[in-house]
Amino acid sequence: MLNVDTIKNGLVIDHIRAGAGSRIFNWLGLDKANYCVALIMNVPSKDMGRKDIIKIDNIINIDFSVLGVIDPNITVNIIRNEKIERKIKLTLPERVENVIKCKNPRCITSTEQYIPHVFLLSDSNTAEYHCEYCDAIFHAGDVL
Ligand SMILES: [Zn+2]
Repeated sequence: MLNVDTIKNGLVIDHIRAGAGSRIFNWLGLDKANYCVALIMNVPSKDMGRKDIIKIDNIINIDFSVLGVIDPNITVNIIRNEKIERKIKLTLPERVENVIKCKNPRCITSTEQYIPHVFLLSDSNTAEYHCEYCDAIFHAGDVL
């Protein structure tokens, strides 16, 4: 197993809801990575019961705000020289494009393929988004 100690420079994505790790792993394109990566699933957690963790032995550019839409409870640690240099707190972006797909079959984005799926933040306290076109609701953390 890849421990934080064994990461010299990289990222640890922690507190991922159990079961969501593989989706995030693939969304980040880590299945095609040519550096050391680890997806650790169902790790016992005091506050979450079970959680998933992703360890990346490379400092890659991630759109952290999009990660927040996928799962707002995620934490990201940046490791430099084997020490946690920075903990990143995820924030919810005001607007996301082509991250959330509108599930309303009558929405124009469902019938017209070329229209981007745009969701806007309606309420940051409840982490609620709505489709720009049809007002369909999406909560951050809902299964994409
Ligand atoms: Zn819609």
